[in-house]
Amino acid sequence: MAPTIGVLALQGAFIEHERALERLGVASREVRQRKHLDGIDGLIIPGGESTTIGKLLDVLGMTEPVRALGRAGLPIWGTCAGLILLATDVGRPQTTLRLLDIGVERNAFGSQLDSFEARVPVPALGEEPFPAVFIRAPLIARLGAGVTPLATLTDGTIVAAERDGLLATAFHPELTDDPRFHQYFLDKVAARTAWDAAPETVAATR
Ligand code: GLN
Repeated sequence: MAPTIGVLALQGAFIEHERALERLGVASREVRQRKHLDGIDGLIIPGGESTTIGKLLDVLGMTEPVRALGRAGLPIWGTCAGLILLATDVGRPQTTLRLLDIGVERNAFGSQLDSFEARVPVPALGEEPFPAVFIRAPLIARLGAGVTPLATLTDGTIVAAERDGLLATAFHPELTDDPRFHQYFLDKVAARTAWDAAPETVAATR
């Protein structure tokens, strides 16, 4: 059965994610209220302003429900502000889901480089570097135990990471035509759905 991917649609670049999924033939659901979380197979938290999205999650009573879904293994992908919202540690008091054990530095690339594009090697996606669009992007300053780096700039700065179903990118794959990160997330969703359906079979093939 086709998965239902929720796209958190409180603020920021959610429409671009919906379009990227559409290009892959996958329907998405805008998640604006708690009830929209019911029955989703994966969730994307878009770029935007992480403090604003965090406040809205709190006001709408969605912080705990999303956190609980993440803890229960729901695949969640955060891009840019979404990465910040997944992190355990952002160096300042603001609401985050604290699902992925990473230390994040917000707006890490200085004023002149507030926005830039770079071709970043992402070995998990194949040989072709990924066209990464950074917009007032964060960087990952610390990786917790079990968190794997996925993309690193030439100076060693980590800009994407994952752990199990959780995926975090400091840049915006939804603003490019390259579908590989969306496909990568959909593969996580498919793996999780297969696991739910038949845990023994999936475990046996690992
Ligand atoms: N600077 C934003 C923040 O800290 C993130 C920017 C983005 O998502 N493009 O929340």
